[in-house]
Amino acid sequence: MTLVRQHLIDPEICIRCNTCEEICPSDAITHDDLNYVVDFNKCDFKSSCLPPCPTGAIDSFRMVAEPFSTADQFQWDVLPEDQGAGSDGSAPSDIPDDVARITAIATEGFGGQPMPPWSAAHPYVNIYTPDRPATGTIAGNLRLTDKNADVDIHHIVIDMGKTAFPYLEGQSIGILPPGVDEAGKPHHVRLYSVASPREGERAGHNNLALSIKRIEEDQDGKAVHGVASNFLCDLKRGAEIRITGPFGKTFLMPNEPDARIVMICTGTGAAPFRGMTERRRRRASLYGNGSMHLFFGARRRAELPYFGPLMKLPKDLIDVELAFSRETDTPKEYVQDRLRARADDVAALIQDENSYFFICGHKRMEEGVHDAFMDICAAHDLNWAHILPDLRDSGRFHVETYF
Ligand SMILES: Cc1cc2nc3c(=O)[nH]c(=O)nc-3n(C[C@H](O)[C@H](O)[C@H](O)COP(=O)(O)OP(=O)(O)OC[C@H]3O[C@@H](n4cnc5c(N)ncnc54)[C@H](O)[C@@H]3O)c2cc1C
Repeated sequence: MTLVRQHLIDPEICIRCNTCEEICPSDAITHDDLNYVVDFNKCDFKSSCLPPCPTGAIDSFRMVAEPFSTADQFQWDVLPEDQGAGSDGSAPSDIPDDVARITAIATEGFGGQPMPPWSAAHPYVNIYTPDRPATGTIAGNLRLTDKNADVDIHHIVIDMGKTAFPYLEGQSIGILPPGVDEAGKPHHVRLYSVASPREGERAGHNNLALSIKRIEEDQDGKAVHGVASNFLCDLKRGAEIRITGPFGKTFLMPNEPDARIVMICTGTGAAPFRGMTERRRRRASLYGNGSMHLFFGARRRAELPYFGPLMKLPKDLIDVELAFSRETDTPKEYVQDRLRARADDVAALIQDENSYFFICGHKRMEEGVHDAFMDICAAHDLNWAHILPDLRDSGRFHVETYF
């Protein structure tokens, strides 16, 4: 059965404020005395209606065999069930199967997707799909790592023009590379974490940033040509790209001012943390007892993205620990070694209910970080095996790692 994606408005949450109807450029939204409804034949998924909605009622999508007419929708007290959600435990339709598969691998290390932080803002997901992608324009593309470094990481700013693309720090977007794979099928989506804060790379601009590592060898060192990463790293200003998403409902920044955000990363795993740090830097006066702690690992300084800007951040904003595994003037260290070096502080953070832990970057870091937490807990009379599930259930421990 072929399903189509239909945009609807949740009658249980809608406060009938008329904002969506006023803003919809294609006049797809109408209302009667009871409900606000979306005409499937007119809705072009431009999504201008999403950000202004004060309740989130507008953020309702269903996979349906036959689109509901406006007459159907006028009758509803509640939204109908999604016809695409699998009864067999498969992904609900607001996360496409390929994205669900990729994110399941990214979060499996410490036990799958946890709860989001209680104070995180409501994330929009899967507004743009491979059938109806958003188009972004490259506003700038800068190599971040030293030109002599083996690792080539780019900072890419994407202008979304007049396309609404609401995202939060910690979410990722899908990139659809042009062309086809070896089987002649369109390339599958590649996920990239957003590296800018929700209000834009430049505040008030409808843009976002990514940190992209050019893939020229696989995890075993074998020469390969990463399709999406090479495509993105080679893009010139003005080029257009197709984007899906945003994705991610749990790896989200806590909003409460007292939150202590512990960020543990390697390489491009820094991307979501750049977004979170920028968010806090721009709103520093709001954060009374909150704090940020960064444990950042790379082989060498020259391979560490955002090294210069990172070193200039105010010390009272962020506490930075760097670990280099192949630098000549410092001992060989990994992020877990810096966690151990700060064991008393880490143990205090683990016991502080305002602390949130985020791990992002190369999959290989997971084991070492896990062992470091276990050892730190054991040395402080804490039981990591009990603490980890509690942290996850309370939205305080988040992992996103990839090859
Ligand atoms: C939630 C999430 C967020 C992500 N955020 C970022 C980000 O912010 N920046 C970023 O650069 N990447 C990020 N990634 C990783 C990125 O999606 C993958 O590296 C992607 O496969 C690259 O696509 P590609 O077409 O260049 O390589 P592919 O054509 O997909 O892969 C080519 C070959 O390279 C191997 N390979 C793929 N990725 C890597 C890698 N990272 N290191 C070594 N070998 C690899 C593959 O196994 C394959 O053999 C993220 C992944 C996830 C799941």
